Amino acid sequence: MKDGPGIRTSVFLKGCPLRCAWCHNPESQAAEIQRAVTTGEVCGRVMSVDAVMGEVLRDAVFYRTSGGGVTFTGGEPMLQFDFLKTLCAAARAAGVHVAVDTSGYAPWERFAELLPLVDLFLYDLKCMDPARHAELTGVPNELILGNLRRLDAAGAKFWIRCPLVPGLNDSDSDLAALRAFTSALRNMEKLEICPYHPLGLEKCATFGLIPRYAEKALPTSADLARWRQALPC
Ligand code: SF4
Repeated sequence: MKDGPGIRTSVFLKGCPLRCAWCHNPESQAAEIQRAVTTGEVCGRVMSVDAVMGEVLRDAVFYRTSGGGVTFTGGEPMLQFDFLKTLCAAARAAGVHVAVDTSGYAPWERFAELLPLVDLFLYDLKCMDPARHAELTGVPNELILGNLRRLDAAGAKFWIRCPLVPGLNDSDSDLAALRAFTSALRNMEKLEICPYHPLGLEKCATFGLIPRYAEKALPTSADLARWRQALPC
């Protein structure tokens, strides 16, 4: 799966208010710098905007030739909002295409401030049922859905990304609700399915974290076919 068009640099900002059962980046949930219990490797470092942009701009020629750019992701990048906003402005000033990968769980005012600085939002929709969403991710989904409707109404460009996990959020009614919601959006450029991957389990072991969902099997080809048939992707 790509983090936006063309060749891109992804910048991971630590810290996330969600706790998705299947999280594939569990080392990015805590805002603090962490150390791997197995290798001693450090996850995260403190960087200035200039230092981040110095790294990003090293690949500027690839962005130009491929139609790529930078993607700010996480964790939830909206959590370090002032830093994110300054980075977006710096990338925009340097002529670099800016994408922000978000769970959508942030006050609308933050999205409104980013609108003039962001070319593309990569927006996760994890589950349409409010109670089930809270159970699976630790937070309700009303704010997430409301922000997406407002981004759509504001004319923002966005791709929807749906992490699908067999037996957790892929029932026929889950998929029908996703289809109905996304069909009403006018500016959705793309809907991508992100099939469950057990990569997070290995990372949990590395960083001494306890996974909430410990399935090691990948979705089957039948799962993938059913998802693709049910969703507009
Ligand atoms: S939003 Fe992303 S980083 Fe945060 S818990 Fe969920 S999967 Fe992990």
